[in-house]
Amino acid sequence: MSHAAMLNRHLAAAKPSATYRMIDRVAARRETGAKIISLSAGEPDFDTPAHICDAAVSAIRAGHTRYTQVAGLRALREAVATKFRNENGLDVSWQDTIVCSGGKQVIFNALAATLNEGDEVIVPAPYWVSYPEIVSLCGAVPIIISCGEDTGFKLTPAALEAAITSKTRWLILNSPSNPTGAVYSRDELALLAHPHVLILSDDIYEHLIFDGSEFHTLAQVEPRLASRTLTMNGVSKAYAMTGWRIGFGTGPRWLLDAMEKLQGQQTSGACSIAQHAAIAALTGPQSFIEMSRGVFQQRRDLAVRMLNETPGMHCNTPGGAFYAFASCAGLIGRTTPAGKFLETDEDVAIALLEECNVAVVHGSAFGLGPYIRFAYALDTDTLQGACGAIRRFVDRLKN
Ligand code: GLU
Repeated sequence: MSHAAMLNRHLAAAKPSATYRMIDRVAARRETGAKIISLSAGEPDFDTPAHICDAAVSAIRAGHTRYTQVAGLRALREAVATKFRNENGLDVSWQDTIVCSGGKQVIFNALAATLNEGDEVIVPAPYWVSYPEIVSLCGAVPIIISCGEDTGFKLTPAALEAAITSKTRWLILNSPSNPTGAVYSRDELALLAHPHVLILSDDIYEHLIFDGSEFHTLAQVEPRLASRTLTMNGVSKAYAMTGWRIGFGTGPRWLLDAMEKLQGQQTSGACSIAQHAAIAALTGPQSFIEMSRGVFQQRRDLAVRMLNETPGMHCNTPGGAFYAFASCAGLIGRTTPAGKFLETDEDVAIALLEECNVAVVHGSAFGLGPYIRFAYALDTDTLQGACGAIRRFVDRLKN
């Protein structure tokens, strides 16, 4: 029997995470001594604020090193409920929340707890690389709706209606979006409020929203949909805590119960120390959020300006997150200084890594090409260096 035949057939058919593949590729090249500027990993470059780290150290010293309840420490669930009430206007108590090992596990639990073979999940593209793969791993079918630049990379009510069938179980929404940074307004969300399907609202970039725009989440905009909506968030992006692995969600109790049952047979409660750190993040001083938002907005302006000055590339100004999603259509069909013909956006990403030591992720991995995703979570000097290197690379392309 071949190794592939011994695998679960859904896993055998799944693609590995494209973001992690690039992160691994960067690590491998760095091991050979190459100096790579990485705009590939979508994570803040800041250190976790000191008061949060101190809370974790205190938790260790206080002996909070044992299992917690599967759905999370009560104190953290209370802090999460308070966050959802105060910041998002959701009418929830701590029992309406769940804490998982990262936002990814919230999503995985919810989909694995509800999907059966052949069910459909609507995933607007460009999408975060893991949505369709998680759907497929659950034996269901991702229904991809392509949302191009003409709609600001956003799903329209007409496109949504056309995609819904009797098999549709979920719609996945993500605003601000990974990989485009697109932000849905309150009115746009209201028009997507479909009464018959479950909705996963991935709000992980909530606080990274620019130009004074206000963040909205579907369950707040349409409270009558709260009984069908899983609102998901976490501390990773807001408090620079990606490695701590704490995500959380709120939704109908039947769904949270099912997610808890699944998690209880899998990872159990999230890391106890990280949960204590997350309590400090949610209940302590919040000035870090404002600071990082300001810094990211400046970096966005720099990255978007430099990419738009690069011949053959163009980029909308994203309203949030820390990604610029730039078209590289003008580079396709050209040849690199090392003699590589650029047929696809993946070729462009590989050439940027190999020939100018800048790591990015190709748009097709997010369901829309030819684009390149730039995660501009780097200081401005490094960012300027990366954009300058890309510009010099592009200037040396041959027709
Ligand atoms: N969310 C980040 C990204 O898109 C982290 C990597 C991942 O989990 O995909 O780069």
